[in-house]
Amino acid sequence: MRKPVLRRGGTIWLGRKKPAARFPILRGDHKTEVAIVGGGMTGAMIAEAFTREGVNVAVIDGARVGQGSTAASTALLLQEPDHDLGALSRRYGRKRGTRIWQLGQEAARDFMDTIRRCRIDCDLVERDSLYYTLDADRARLLQRELRKRRDAGLGGKWLDARALARASGIHGMGGAIRTSGNAQLNPLQACIGLIDAAARQGASIFERSTITRIRPVGDGVRLYSSSGTIDAAQVVIATGYATKYFRPLAGKFRMRHTYVLATNRIGAPARKRIGLGKVMLWDTERPYHYVRWTPDHRLLLGGEDHPVKPGARRGLQFAEATAALRDYFEALYPVLRDVGIDRSWEGLFAMTPDSLPYIGPHRRYPKHAFALGYGGNGMTFAALAARILVEQWRGVTSPDHALFAFNRSRT
Ligand SMILES: Cc1cc2nc3c(=O)[nH]c(=O)nc-3n(C[C@H](O)[C@H](O)[C@H](O)COP(=O)(O)OP(=O)(O)OC[C@H]3O[C@@H](n4cnc5c(N)ncnc54)[C@H](O)[C@@H]3O)c2cc1C
Repeated sequence: MRKPVLRRGGTIWLGRKKPAARFPILRGDHKTEVAIVGGGMTGAMIAEAFTREGVNVAVIDGARVGQGSTAASTALLLQEPDHDLGALSRRYGRKRGTRIWQLGQEAARDFMDTIRRCRIDCDLVERDSLYYTLDADRARLLQRELRKRRDAGLGGKWLDARALARASGIHGMGGAIRTSGNAQLNPLQACIGLIDAAARQGASIFERSTITRIRPVGDGVRLYSSSGTIDAAQVVIATGYATKYFRPLAGKFRMRHTYVLATNRIGAPARKRIGLGKVMLWDTERPYHYVRWTPDHRLLLGGEDHPVKPGARRGLQFAEATAALRDYFEALYPVLRDVGIDRSWEGLFAMTPDSLPYIGPHRRYPKHAFALGYGGNGMTFAALAARILVEQWRGVTSPDHALFAFNRSRT
C-alpha cells in the first residue's frame, strides 16, 4: 500500500512546527483482535468504539495520527448526506432513502455523544446548518425537498429570502432549509482525543508505519510494515479511499481535490457588517460552497472541488481554485475584500456515485472490513462506520448494513 498525499499546505489546525512523535513505530511481531489501518478520524472513531466493547485493537498509521485529510477538514458535522433525500429516494426508494437520512441524524448524535463521553476538548459546539440557494427557481425545488423531509419525519425549517438574509447576511432571491442537530469542532483535536481514549481503553497505536502487505494467516490476517508485523482476527481499512493496494476497488471511488481559505481574524465591526450568525452555510451548487466561523473569529471558506487529473499542474489548479473561492465569497460578503486570507490549503477526498461510504466486508478480501469513501461527510460517516463495524464484529445483523455495503443496489 503506497502512502497517499492526502493534504497540501498548512491548515489552521496544525501548528507551524512539526509535532513530536507520540506513538512508536511498529517493530517486531504483534498480535491483536482487530488491526485498524489508518489513524485519521475514521480509524480513531472505530478504535474508540471497539475498545469500549472490550476488543483488543491496534491502530497503525503510515504518518502521524490525524495528519492526513482529517487535518484538512473544515469539520462541519452535518447529519445531511451530500445527496438530498429526494435524490436518494429516487435511487433507492423512499423507505431506504429515509433510513439513510435517519442514520445520518443518529450518527451525528453518536459522534457528539462520544466526544462528550470521552471529555475531548475540541471546541465542539452545536450549530444549525443553512442549506441555501440564491436563485428563486432553485428555492422552489428546495422547498419541495423540505416537504419530502417533513413527510418522512426528518424535520427542517424553511427560511425565505428575508429570513435567510437575517440569519446569514446573504442577500438574494432564494431561501434555505435550516437544520438543527449539527455541530462544528476542531478535527485534529477530536481525532487525537479519540486515539488517546482508545489507547486508555487498551489500544496499541503505531505511527510512521506504513502497511505494505496483508496476507491471510490461519483464521486471520498478517499485516506487514517495513519493520514489523501484526497478526489479527480482522483488519479494518480506514485509509480514506481504496489505496493502490486495493486496486480492484478503485473504480468505486472518484478522487477529488477540495480547497479551503481561512481568513484572518475578523474584528467585531466587520463581523457585524458580514452579518453571518451562529450558523454553518452550504449551498445547493455542485460542487458546493460552504462557510463557518471558527471560535477565534475567522471564516473558513471551502469548496471548488476538482476531479483529480493525472498530470494536471496542481500548483496552477490550486491558484485557480482558491481565486474562484475568493471571488465567490467576496460576491456574497463584499466586506471580505478588506479581510486578508491567513491560510489556504487543499485536501484529497473520495466521492462515491451516491455520496455514501462503503462500510463492511468485501467478498474478495476475507477477514477485512472497510470504512472508505466519505465525501464531505467524513465525520458523520466515521461514527456510522464505528457502529456498523462493531455490530458486524459481534455478529449482529441489520438491514441497515446493506445500505452501505459494497454490493448495494438501486431500486
Ligand atoms: C479540505 C477538506 C475539508 C473537509 N471538510 C469536512 C467537513 O467539513 N466535514 C466532514 O465531515 N468531513 C470533511 N472532510 C472529509 C474529511 O477528510 C473526513 O471527514 C475525515 O477526516 C477523513 O478521515 P479518514 O480517517 O477517513 O481519512 P484520513 O484523515 O485521510 O486518514 C487516513 C489515514 O490513513 C493513513 N494511511 C493511508 N494508507 C496507509 C497505509 N498503507 N498504512 C498505514 N496508514 C495508512 C494515512 O496516513 C492517514 O492518516 C473534508 C476533507 C477535506 C480534504
